[in-house]
Amino acid sequence: MTPKITRFLTEQSPATPCLIVDLDVVEQQYKNLTEALPEGRIFYAVKANPAPAILKKLVALGSCFDAASIPEIEMCLAAGAQPSQVSYGNTLKKVGQIRQAREMGIDLFVFDSAEELEKIAEHAPGARVFCRLAVENEGADWPLSRKFGTTTAHAGELMRRAPSLGLIPHGLSFHVGSQQTGVAAYDRAIDIAGALYRSLKADGIDIRMLNLGGGYPTTYNRDVPDIHAFGETIIKALDRNFPGEHPELLLEPGRYMVGRAGIVSTEVILASRRGGAEKDPRWVYLDIGRFGGMAETEGEAIRYLFRTPHDQSDETRSPCILAGPSCDGVDIMYEKNRVPLPNALKSGDRIEILATGAYVSTYCSTGFNGFPPLEEHYI
Ligand SMILES: *Cc1c(COP(=O)(O)O)cnc(C)c1O
Repeated sequence: MTPKITRFLTEQSPATPCLIVDLDVVEQQYKNLTEALPEGRIFYAVKANPAPAILKKLVALGSCFDAASIPEIEMCLAAGAQPSQVSYGNTLKKVGQIRQAREMGIDLFVFDSAEELEKIAEHAPGARVFCRLAVENEGADWPLSRKFGTTTAHAGELMRRAPSLGLIPHGLSFHVGSQQTGVAAYDRAIDIAGALYRSLKADGIDIRMLNLGGGYPTTYNRDVPDIHAFGETIIKALDRNFPGEHPELLLEPGRYMVGRAGIVSTEVILASRRGGAEKDPRWVYLDIGRFGGMAETEGEAIRYLFRTPHDQSDETRSPCILAGPSCDGVDIMYEKNRVPLPNALKSGDRIEILATGAYVSTYCSTGFNGFPPLEEHYI
């Protein structure tokens, strides 16, 4: 909660549920990351929150962008980014999308298989390509490891083959998993990518870039290492792997850049021990749930913090099961990990869900049960 958001809530009392994002925090996060890793070029992962206000703010700060689709590329260009500032970072691209991106001037494409490399060669001839490596996602609350990336051996083969296909083998990438809470994940991944990078260089492949992906965490219900701890570990790993000159370094933060910039304002629809007995669990139903944008509560993976109007009083609390407003039985956010909420909480109370700037606005359904998409305010 920033003073700006508090003031907005008091003065405007916006209809719930809604997302409010303080753009000053986005700017601060951009600066913090730049300070922690000055040599890294930031390619903001657009999927975390593609709001035009955020993209424009980042363009003004000099950011580049990691886009995963044609609409995301279009949003970046509409916000003022040059095509040279946009990377097509999705390993899954239809050939029509590769062609269209190329026509839009995009020159940097990822791949993690021979077939995808061949598609890029045919539909974006002459483009720069980078290969995504599969690395361990241990320590990540929201892993991305099984679906993407290839082995170093196969990546080496494909990078060596790229020139004969008319492509420029530009670099290597990995993603250590989102909400990565351990700095060691980057350390290990840089060692793996570094070894391949050096062997390609030794073979005369003019590789230049190392893309460390995203993963840098936001603070939810527990402390996470400071961004400077990530920076120091990464710089040490780079020094160890590239004692002469570091490769061109790309960073793709999503969650880190926008997570703590936003809050969701929601209303309690019902707070009840439905069985009527003191031993029955207390259920709190909010006007936002898994289909309204809180998709990362899937598996209770991301554990958000809640602010209620009763936090200041020394009100007793009970562990609550937290659910959304829809008529779907899986629309429960926390049941195994119950949320301690004040017993005084009642229908009509407003609650703020903290650090919801990332992976909320775009995850909401368009009209499940007739609920409209989440309102968004960028201030
Ligand atoms: C989602 C994604 C990111 C951003 O990840 P965060 O954990 O939000 O920082 C970066 N790169 C790629 C390729 C992604 O798919």
